[in-house]
Amino acid sequence: MQYSEIMVRYGELSTKGKNRQSFISRLNGNVAKALHEFPNLTIRPKRDRMHIELNGEDSDAVMHRLSQVFGIQNFSPSVAVPKDMDLVHEKALELMNATVPEGSSYKVNTRRSDHSFELDTNQMNLDMGDFLSDARPDLVVQMRQPDFILRVEVRREAIYLSTTTVQGAGGLPVGTAGKAVLMLSGGIDSPVAGYYALKRGVEIEMVHFFSPPYTSDSALAKAKDLTAKLAPYVGSIKFIQVPFTETQEEVKAKVPEGYLMTVQRRMMLRLATAIAENRGALAIFNGEAVGQVASQTLESMVAINDVTTMPIVRPVATMDKNEIIKVAEDIDTYDLSIMPFEDCCTIFAPPAPKTKPNLDKTRYYETKIDVEGLMNRALEGIKVTEIKSSDHFLSQDRDLIAELL
Ligand code: ATP
Ligand code: MG
Repeated sequence: MQYSEIMVRYGELSTKGKNRQSFISRLNGNVAKALHEFPNLTIRPKRDRMHIELNGEDSDAVMHRLSQVFGIQNFSPSVAVPKDMDLVHEKALELMNATVPEGSSYKVNTRRSDHSFELDTNQMNLDMGDFLSDARPDLVVQMRQPDFILRVEVRREAIYLSTTTVQGAGGLPVGTAGKAVLMLSGGIDSPVAGYYALKRGVEIEMVHFFSPPYTSDSALAKAKDLTAKLAPYVGSIKFIQVPFTETQEEVKAKVPEGYLMTVQRRMMLRLATAIAENRGALAIFNGEAVGQVASQTLESMVAINDVTTMPIVRPVATMDKNEIIKVAEDIDTYDLSIMPFEDCCTIFAPPAPKTKPNLDKTRYYETKIDVEGLMNRALEGIKVTEIKSSDHFLSQDRDLIAELL
């Protein structure tokens, strides 16, 4: 079927009162970015719908991209027909033949914004029903939960027909909820946390700690590839890599083993806070889940959270590991996350970290290291890159490596 436009229904933003205009214009910008590969499209954001005129672009390819844009409830590929009922009948039949299998149930649902049109909504529903009962006698009219709804929209410029509604990504347009940093490791949980941040409209920048030569180039490349997996939801994402070797060495040398991990995490969180402040971000997101590992008990959170007053949002805090894995598979980060390139925490992980670190002891042991000096040098060594969905960082042998494992 040759569609002429995709009609987009907004998500939650319809309930946002006077913010509506800024939501719509942000969504408009995000949709334009997500669809930049299709130069012939015309995007028309209106108060209650957005219309994407295809002008010959491939509707399936456009809809695939559109399904990753947050702030969209659902959308329908539609055919525009001049306001002549003979033509409307002809196109409706063509559309029904292409999309509605024999014997299906259906109903007609008309919406009219052009009130000067000769038929009102009731008359239009009846007229189309009459026509189709002759043209497609195999179909059954059913008002409650039909298999298909033929949607007819009478607008000023044309009549629009559609039979298909595709579920959108939901959530809020990215950027409408401000900016945060995401602490991104190479693991399973933090990319999922990033997905949820984006879904709630939060623009994120990735903060990744790496410790060469203890961590390999591949570990860094993997974190960048994970970033590329989330980029389609926004267009591109800034990746901030923070050198963490000196800090880890000093902590390892000076802090008792049971408190190594707690102090390392405090340093990470301090650095993340400083980076967020410098870049105008309002909160820190991470992939912690309550009770999952030693650093994620509530006692550990108390001892680590102590270094910042910035809000820390933990989108996967209450999820089971297998629930997180399910989402990771859906967003296609799982296969990358399980590739075995050690990140900086695993390498300096003590065999028996304290699961219930004491806050006063933590503060005391930390006086043994030069917090400020280490932070300043780490911040000086930061490198920022902008990552797009088409970028790849792990070598092309990735599939081969995966096979060997
Ligand atoms: P993940 O699967 O996200 O790695 P995890 O269960 O392995 O999580 P930890 O390794 O304890 O848990 O890390 C907890 C959180 O701390 C991560 O979700 C991430 O937000 C942050 N984090 C850990 N390592 C790094 C790193 N190298 N760079 C940036 N953030 C990190
Ligand atoms: Mg990890």
